[in-house]
Amino acid sequence: MAERLQKVMARAGVASRRKSEAIIKAGRVRVNGQVVTELGIKVKSSDEIQVDRVPISKEQPVYYLFYKPRQVVSTVSDEKNRKTVMDYFPEVSERIYPVGRLDYDTAGLLLMTNDGDLDNRLTHPKYEINKVYVAKVTGMPSNDGMKKLRLGVMIDGKKTAPAKTKVLEAANGYQVKNAVIQLTIHEGRNHEVKKMFEAIGNPVKKLSRVQYGFLTLGNLKPGEYRPLKKVEVDRLR
Ligand code: URA
Repeated sequence: MAERLQKVMARAGVASRRKSEAIIKAGRVRVNGQVVTELGIKVKSSDEIQVDRVPISKEQPVYYLFYKPRQVVSTVSDEKNRKTVMDYFPEVSERIYPVGRLDYDTAGLLLMTNDGDLDNRLTHPKYEINKVYVAKVTGMPSNDGMKKLRLGVMIDGKKTAPAKTKVLEAANGYQVKNAVIQLTIHEGRNHEVKKMFEAIGNPVKKLSRVQYGFLTLGNLKPGEYRPLKKVEVDRLR
């Protein structure tokens, strides 16, 4: 199947589609040894594509839905030698990496792929993918606090986008000291959920991501993964 050159470059992780177009226009791309500067061209999987004379990756795109456990870093390697998400994929030979990040102490749904194009799209703020988190927090957020979460709170000098909230377990200050709140956001700012709860005076004690777009963890247990179905990949695009 022939596909547009910039799409193939983006999937191989060269750059986003738009940046790949600029790289093509700049004359840095060769197809079967010939420099190509035209944007419309289509290439086949048998074509040899080079950027700055270096062949781009020819791996097939693969997609996994992973239940990241706590105490695991969402990077491919770790300078402190902690467990990484890669330790859970010893039998996968493709060079996969996580789409976005979860904190070391956050568990939950993380997509893993080698498809740079899909990664770029899913993590671009424009696509506003909903992410659902379940947070066990200190105390019980006030009505005002919950309203702030919904309308936006200031974190790092910028207001968060509107969020959805649901109280899963209320705290009463006596026997039940920690509320459990479901929070749905579509931004992906650094430590966003923890900072949002911090901002309303109810710091997070435990955090999990239970949903990413339409994808849920289903029957997976921490540390397990499954390949995405083709219909799921198509729906994410
Ligand atoms: N927000 C956080 O604070 N931590 C995460 O891991 C994900 C979202």
